[in-house]
Amino acid sequence: SFSAEKVPQAPEDPLFGLMAAYRKDTFDKKVDLGIGAYRDNNAKPWVLPVVKKADDRLRDDPNLNHEYLPIAGLAEFTSAAQKLILGVDSPAIKEKRACSLQTISGTGAVHLGALFLAKFYTRSQNQPVYFSNPTWANHNQIFANVGLPIQTYPYFSAKTKGLDFEGMKSTIQSATEGSIILLHACAHNPTGVDPTREQWKEIANIIREKKHFPFFDCAYQGFASGDLENDAWAIRYFVEQGFELCVAQSFAKNFGLYGERAGCFHFVTSPGSDAGNTISRIASQLAILQRSEISNPPAYGARIASTVLNDPALFAEWKENLKTMSGRIIQMRKDLKSKLEELGTPGTWNHITDQIGMFSFTGLTEKQVLKIREDAHVYMTKNGRISMAGLNTNNVDYVAKAIDKVVR
Ligand code: PLP
Repeated sequence: SFSAEKVPQAPEDPLFGLMAAYRKDTFDKKVDLGIGAYRDNNAKPWVLPVVKKADDRLRDDPNLNHEYLPIAGLAEFTSAAQKLILGVDSPAIKEKRACSLQTISGTGAVHLGALFLAKFYTRSQNQPVYFSNPTWANHNQIFANVGLPIQTYPYFSAKTKGLDFEGMKSTIQSATEGSIILLHACAHNPTGVDPTREQWKEIANIIREKKHFPFFDCAYQGFASGDLENDAWAIRYFVEQGFELCVAQSFAKNFGLYGERAGCFHFVTSPGSDAGNTISRIASQLAILQRSEISNPPAYGARIASTVLNDPALFAEWKENLKTMSGRIIQMRKDLKSKLEELGTPGTWNHITDQIGMFSFTGLTEKQVLKIREDAHVYMTKNGRISMAGLNTNNVDYVAKAIDKVVR
């Protein structure tokens, strides 16, 4: 029987714990390379100028009210989000075999997908979901909470600090037929390592052969390379290949709308004569799940994103803002790498510029991570992941020297 006194203490969320420790630190040169949120060159949060414009426009609208959104969310937002991720000319959109629901950012989208699959994805056995090792830590919790068995496939090679492509392929190949394969669409978190297009094609072939179900998590479209089309390439390729799949889409990073929780979940069925009916049944079940989980999604972030996505001038400006963010990060990668090379820091550092997106897996060990925190007040997660957005022209020298010191 339940006894309140027997509920054990849960561990603190490692990332949010790290943030709290950083905040408490009074050292003037402290550096936060922990949290995955964009910072400008002065280490400050950045409100995208295009978001500010959309926000002003919304606030000036005398017809704006605070009524509930529909269960599936703001229709102008979900349809624009669908076009953004699948592409305006997507066969799935033309053939009306995609459905989209607004969610509590990317986390809510992953959860809605996991919940749907736990309820309806029953093949001959209790197929597991496969994550990359490592992956975004929340994947484990979200899928475990809905009761799906969890497995991992190799992803990161400690030796090359790049993709362990052979390990990844052979595990996906030997997985039980019909497993759910979770894939990061771009800018893999935490490693910053993505497959090449040729490698994606090989992965798609194995997934098709083994009748696996691909589940894409896309948290960095446009933020990774600065190009919205490029960052959505893998998803669009799978859709063109006729896969049945789902996508969790976040607007936290690419719009800087972290706390507004704007996201979308998309389900795409395979082409076929009954695809339209199938997708409407799936949409009806997703709506029931959504109703019991959150009733209906929050309005404001979706309104901002929708204002930008549906206005050609604002959309063009957004693309420039994306280039500002991704460009600054790419420059910081170059600067950190060249400073480490100038210092003659032991090891090779080309992985810093080969990796993409918000994060870099530095290769620092847990011991080194703790030492750099202690000695230099540079904060990063224990696995040696750094958020590139925490670097700027004022601190990159300092961080390079601190890394140099701990690896010697
Ligand atoms: N998936 C991945 C891989 C992520 O890195 C993140 C954010 O860090 C998310 C999903 C979801 O983030 P949010 O719920 O803030 O959109």
